[in-house]
Amino acid sequence: MARMEIYLDANATTPVLPRARDAALAAMSRTFGNPSSTHGAGLRARAMLDEVRARARRVLGAPTGRVTFTSGATEGIQTAVLSALMALKRRRAAGEVIPPWLLYGATEHKAVPAALRHWNEVLGLDLEIHAIPVDADGRHLLAWLREHAVKAGLVCTMAANNETGVVSDLDGIERAIEGSGALWMVDGVQALGKLDLALARRAIAYAPFSGHKLYAPKGIGLLYVREDAPFTPLLTGGGQEDDLRAGTENMAGVAALGAVLQALEEGDGFKGPATLAVLRDRLLTALEEAFPGLMLNAPLSHCLPTTLNFSVRDVRAKVLLDLFDAAGIRVSGGSACSASRAKPSDVLSAMGLSPWRASNAVRLSIGPLVSDSLIAEACRRIRSCGQALRSAHASFDPAGTATAPELITRWIVDGACCYLVCPPDTDRCVVVDPLPELTHEIAGRIRGLDRRLVAVLDTHSHGDHASSAPALWSAACHAPGDGPTTDHLGWPQGRSEIGLGSWRLIRMATPGHTADATALLLQHGDELSACFVGDTVMPGALGRTDFPVSQPRALVPTLRALAARVGHEALLLPGHDEDDRHATTLAIESRAQALVALALNPAADPASFLREKAALEAGLAPTRHDTMACGARVDRCATEQAVELSRDAVARLAEEQPATLLVDVRESYERSVDPTAVFPMATTQSVPVSALVSALARWLALPREQAIVFYCRSGSRSAQAARALRRLGRENVWSLSGGLVSAGL
Ligand code: PLP
Repeated sequence: MARMEIYLDANATTPVLPRARDAALAAMSRTFGNPSSTHGAGLRARAMLDEVRARARRVLGAPTGRVTFTSGATEGIQTAVLSALMALKRRRAAGEVIPPWLLYGATEHKAVPAALRHWNEVLGLDLEIHAIPVDADGRHLLAWLREHAVKAGLVCTMAANNETGVVSDLDGIERAIEGSGALWMVDGVQALGKLDLALARRAIAYAPFSGHKLYAPKGIGLLYVREDAPFTPLLTGGGQEDDLRAGTENMAGVAALGAVLQALEEGDGFKGPATLAVLRDRLLTALEEAFPGLMLNAPLSHCLPTTLNFSVRDVRAKVLLDLFDAAGIRVSGGSACSASRAKPSDVLSAMGLSPWRASNAVRLSIGPLVSDSLIAEACRRIRSCGQALRSAHASFDPAGTATAPELITRWIVDGACCYLVCPPDTDRCVVVDPLPELTHEIAGRIRGLDRRLVAVLDTHSHGDHASSAPALWSAACHAPGDGPTTDHLGWPQGRSEIGLGSWRLIRMATPGHTADATALLLQHGDELSACFVGDTVMPGALGRTDFPVSQPRALVPTLRALAARVGHEALLLPGHDEDDRHATTLAIESRAQALVALALNPAADPASFLREKAALEAGLAPTRHDTMACGARVDRCATEQAVELSRDAVARLAEEQPATLLVDVRESYERSVDPTAVFPMATTQSVPVSALVSALARWLALPREQAIVFYCRSGSRSAQAARALRRLGRENVWSLSGGLVSAGL
């Protein structure tokens, strides 16, 4: 039976209240009339519409002014901005000098600055758009606002922030803009049902709301417009909503919203701020126990009692989100995260929080209808998540399913790769190409594994980040200088190799991308286990050679020397991996990149290589988060290649080919909190995607026809694994479509 889902993401959306669902169904069956019709069915619908509007007026504290139904807050924001900017345009057309600025809070939902930019451009106003700075607590700098409000035609501030829950000082803002003549929009989305906005008592001109943040369905919202505020409809047509918003009303949505507002007015299940704060504090206690060192990103005293935004120093948001999701707890990243990229939250950055806090942020949010029992279960699961993470850091095998500690663990941040090498027969370990974002996570991992860090090596002087080796040494609690003297890349001076039990690391100079570039060969006896090549050659790209520290002429000899030393089929582990291909070989890159083929062709003229490479690099753009491009990508690695198999197709495959290998690529901490039963048939392995590079050679050594099906929770990491193995030449390799979640496992 499916586990209960613990939904703690109410600031994103909420489930629909059962009585709101009933009301929507009734509006689609019994009261289905068009409120503009004058017959009985229409009149019944009109009565309902009027009743809900009256209720909304009471809840919003808006007995005067206009209250109109919209599709949601985004539409309300557009309408408000359009209205204010049209008024400015008319004033300018009448010969008046209008205020030159438009202002919005620096932590505003992006719908607001986007609408300001959009309508400013569409209406040809050419006004300056500025963000009102906030302090470290996320509150607007009122002195700044007071100074600049006279220059503003419109000021937009939210009532409460969706990421942090920080409640704005609306009284202070009102005083700061008093007398300025600016129109004032307050985004009330996160305040609905949680704060008394008393709209009509304030100088607020516009206030948009969204139903789905408070147990109504998506697609219904409200816009309050003060009586004397200028108004321009976004939609015109049949004159509905007193000409404020044309189009037949979303009556099912209106009915549902009405039912929610009624429940709110009656206090039916809605908890007050004090009760919510007690529940929030229980969650916080569980979080602090589970994740020591947790830091709140906004002071609770300034926040809605329904939102917790926190960061854990040595745990990235992505790890926490995967862990929580595996435990059936749904939360959000405070930043836009994906498997390999974590863009720091704009809201937290605007508050001046350090980059690690802005990128590690996680948000838990509850709605006012939350139950005590849900919080109790959430706390229980949060504690088990903490336990799972501690076990995972202490050992790669908390679930008892993996066979041995993985030789190499890989992290990836914004396309840059970092590796931890942990051979099984020693307590020694080495980090290759450390990344500053990972310092505490890797140090924690090393400590948990009870390993001794013996070297932190950079393959070259990086163009996009400074080496974080010194920070890693100190975070790993090794006294600085307790190892041998090293060169600037961390290699112990005078040593030809670094011993790691029965493995050893050997260094090979590979100048080109930079003059100091090296490859690091991990050997087991005489056998090559892996070759860390930095940015010399990457999946789909060659390292750029147009830096001042580059040695373009050295690259051809380097590639030839590498081919001679490791061969064309050896697995190369790159310094950057923009497409999550994990590893490559010279043979594959020769096929994918004409330049590699040219370089490795002994008959080719190195001068033509130099010309073509310089031409390719002439317009190298920055990468997604404006980091330096490390090389021109010529092969996008067929990201769209179909590798998915449905659950039924996997079952058939396993029946037809009983040797089919099923590989669970979830991290061990996810497996340990997710009791989901895996496929009973076929052989199953667990290789977390972070350790994929350790297993690639194993899988490549299997017979060619061997079928391999990767699976994970959502299907994204397993598709990544399948594509990586396919690019290395395997065909019978698949990913379970939609992951365990969609497969209903
Ligand atoms: N404003 C805030 C503060 C929000 O949290 C949201 C939604 O997340 C919006 C505006 C946009 O609302 P909707 O997407 O419902 O139009």
